[in-house]
Amino acid sequence: MKRTALFLSVALLSVHASQAQTGLKVHISADLEGVAGTVTREQTGQNGFEYQKAREWMTREVLAAIEGARAAGATEILVADSHGNGQNLLIDMIPSGIEIVRSWPRPLGMMEGLDESFDAVIFIGYHASSSNAAGVFAHTITGAFTEVSINGIAVTEAAFNAAIAGHFGVPAVMISGDDAVIEEARSILGELEGAVVKHSYSFNAARTLTPEDARALIRDKAQKGVERRAALEPYVVETPVRLDLTFRRHLPAELLSYLPSVERTGSHSVRFVGEDMIVVTKFMEFAATALSGITE
Ligand SMILES: [Zn+2]
Repeated sequence: MKRTALFLSVALLSVHASQAQTGLKVHISADLEGVAGTVTREQTGQNGFEYQKAREWMTREVLAAIEGARAAGATEILVADSHGNGQNLLIDMIPSGIEIVRSWPRPLGMMEGLDESFDAVIFIGYHASSSNAAGVFAHTITGAFTEVSINGIAVTEAAFNAAIAGHFGVPAVMISGDDAVIEEARSILGELEGAVVKHSYSFNAARTLTPEDARALIRDKAQKGVERRAALEPYVVETPVRLDLTFRRHLPAELLSYLPSVERTGSHSVRFVGEDMIVVTKFMEFAATALSGITE
């Protein structure tokens, strides 16, 4: 038994070593609010009249990103389904050779599965942050937060997740969503490729591309982004990392402040300092998941 295990691990190590030399690994984190056509809970909520259709739009946008990444040479692609219940993607539509992260909770949140062996990350279907006055479905992680800041800078999910990638030395190379999220992400992350698939008029209205036109744009930008990966700097935040959370409700801030590692900074806000983005992300996952049902 032991010998077999040893043999297997040596074989796995050598496979990994050869991939490290020749492979190109891409992580795709996929959300739904920033997908073309998506404007209200009729598309994003599981009981919405168009949710089943929106799952297909989301899946096809991910497929377009996969095509673009493969055209740029990607040999391994991992997709993290990162909206709602984490089970939106229609996985029968995804081609052989791709792996998919599903459901919650997971320690790395929307970036689960990422590590330092990856070469690039792509954000599909992303939306503006809760600190942004513009943007369809502008929110950060959950509607429970009115602001999420890292080291004093209010962040989008894109910036938060890019900081996780930065921990592993991996650059964010492309993002799709509405005009507001592309502008907001670029203001922090620099010139990653952006596919604007809709123009926001309000929290629940937009002028959108057709799904077909959105896919063509995403395919093109994903390819360009992966091709430009060496020119794009990973987003590395200073450590230790200071996470400030402001809640819509009073009680989550109070409950978290009972933990000795958490400081209450206001009636609705707390501060957590973690040694790096991994520790901070696990804390965020706990805060977002365990306290999400609180309505006081
Ligand atoms: Zn989101």
